[in-house]
Parts: sequence; C-alpha cells; structure tokens
Amino acid sequence: MEKDEILDHLKTPKLDKELFGKADETRKRYCGNEVYIRGIIEFSSYCCRNCLYCGLRRENKKLRRYRMRPEGIVELCKKIIDIGVNTIVLQSGDDFYYTQEMVSSIIEAIKDEGNAAITLSLGERPVEDYSKWKEAGADRYLLKHETANPRLYEKIHPGQRFKKRIDLLLALRDMGYQIGAGNIVGLPGQTFEDMANDILLLRELDVDMAGIGPFIPQKDTPLGKFPGGDLNLTLRVLALTRILTKNAHLPATTALATLDPESGQRMGLKAGANVIMPDFTPNGYREKYVIYDKKVRVTLERAEEVILRAGREISKRRGDSLKCTRHQRASVYI
Ligand code: SAH
Repeated sequence: MEKDEILDHLKTPKLDKELFGKADETRKRYCGNEVYIRGIIEFSSYCCRNCLYCGLRRENKKLRRYRMRPEGIVELCKKIIDIGVNTIVLQSGDDFYYTQEMVSSIIEAIKDEGNAAITLSLGERPVEDYSKWKEAGADRYLLKHETANPRLYEKIHPGQRFKKRIDLLLALRDMGYQIGAGNIVGLPGQTFEDMANDILLLRELDVDMAGIGPFIPQKDTPLGKFPGGDLNLTLRVLALTRILTKNAHLPATTALATLDPESGQRMGLKAGANVIMPDFTPNGYREKYVIYDKKVRVTLERAEEVILRAGREISKRRGDSLKCTRHQRASVYI
C-alpha cells in the first residue's frame, strides 16, 4: 500500500468496515488467533523530561510521585510469573534514580524466576545502559517514536531530538533487542500526512511491536485543554499498521479502553491488534501514574474477558517477535 492509499483510508471513515476486515484477515494470516498477555508494572512516576502531553512531565507539580523499591518490583514480578504471565513490561518515567546497575540486578533477579520475557520501557538512556541490560537478560525495549513529524516531535518534547529517538531504536535493534516503537494519534497540530508517515516509519523500521493509542488530554499539562484523539481514527491507524507491518505485535492499548471502556479494546482486536497489556502496578501507586486523565484499569481478568468476547484465544506463550528471519540472522552473528 502506498502513501496516497493510506491517506485515503485515514481521511474516509466510510471505508472503515472494509479496512478493519482486511486488517483482521492480515492479523489472522500472519499472527494467528492467539492474543499475547504482557503484564505491565509502572514502577516510578518520576521523570526528568517535559513532554507537553504527559502528566509525568517534570514541571507537573500536582502529580504525587512514587518509586517502587527494586526488591518490591522483583517480588511483584515473581507473583505475576507464578500466575502464568510470560512477559513482564517494566515501565517508568525517565528516572535516573534507577542506575544501570540497579536495573541490571532487577533484570537478573527476574530471570532467576524462569523464562519470562522482559520488556523495558524506561525512556532514553545512554546506549551503554541498554547494552548492559541486554547482557543482564532483557529481551525487548519499547520506545515509542510518538510522532514521525520531526518538527512536531521537537515542539512537544522540549530538549529532545527526533533523530536521537530513532538512532536509539536502531541501536537497541543492533544489540539484539526486539524493538517496539509507536505513535500517538490526534496530537494537537498533527496532520493526516503525519499519521501516514508514522505508519510508513513503523514499516521502514521493521518493528517487532508497536504501541498505537489516541492522544488523551491530562489537565495539568500544557496540552490539557486540547481535544483528545478520535477512536475510529486511532482504529484506522492501527488497522493500516497491521496491513503494512504484517506480523508486528500490536496491542489493543489501555488508551483505547479509556476512550471506550465497554468496547475500545475489543474493537482494537478486531482491527488488527494481537496483544493486551494488563496493569499489575500495585494499589497506592497505580492511581499516581497519571500519564493522561481517567486512565482505566485493565486487569488480567478484564483482558481475558475482552479476548474471549472477541472470539480469540488467550495465549500462554511468551509471544516473541514474529519477525523470525531478522532474529535468526542476528543470532548467527552473536
Ligand atoms: N518514559 C518512557 C515511558 C513514557 S509513558 C518513555 O519515554 O518511553 C508511556 C507512553 O505513554 C508514552 O510513550 C506515550 O506514548 C504515552 N502517553 C503519555 N502521555 C499521553 C497522553 N496524554 N495521551 C496519550 N498517550 C500518552
């Protein structure tokens, strides 16, 4: 599919049914019927960045900050693995309180529990840190590119560079990580062409996974008064990404559930998604991880119900990258 056709689909909701059907077929053919479960722990709400859309931004003085202790994180991971969840996603604001060594020992302790996959989503760090964490046993890294428009990117991420974000993703891939990028749909000032470029970038990077969710305003941020992203448009971006990337892992995001708690994620699964990320952040912390307002809680039970209601199977597997050729090729070099 070329850019013009992508743009037509982004602009014309009339064609949704046909588009979602094609995405669903593509998903079935390349990913099967299983939906992978990734248990996410949001272990720190401290952040040194100042992204204009995100409630964790350092200038948001209204947010109550927290940090989980490394032992607490590991304990929680053990429990999650014990109930059969085979991927743990460790996410936080960009928080340098957790040194490279601390994160490495957390990874090692989790790996002692068995064969669960570890996805890190800790933002931008020196490549040396990424490399040590890979050695310690981390498997995947999620670093969304947020928007493929470099000017918009740099406007909403003060002090950050688009090129650096992409260079870090490429470095992570070269180290043997399964990489995840992804974008926000409906950012103030974003055009259809920007969204088409997001989808084309995901294909070009040949990402192993991509997180795609709507923009949701957070009232204590500079973008707090802008309208949120549109549900159907987000589903169209998701569907087009499925069609173009074929076998990338694509979650039905919590942001979709927040826009439509009753059916947002089910619609995501029917528009190409094959992953759900239930939240295991403990009470007392979870309500403070306010990246956007009214974030719904996707529990494991809720995730499983959504999967079954969509007529799909709950996977018990790790769900590693389906881009085998690249990883087989990488392992030849290692
Ligand atoms: N510090 C990490 C994790 C950031 S939070 C990093 O930089 O990768 C995880 C994701 O939440 C971000 O990548 C962003 O896409 C999303 N997010 C944050 N604020 C949002 C908002 N207001 N609306 C929609 N998505 C948002």
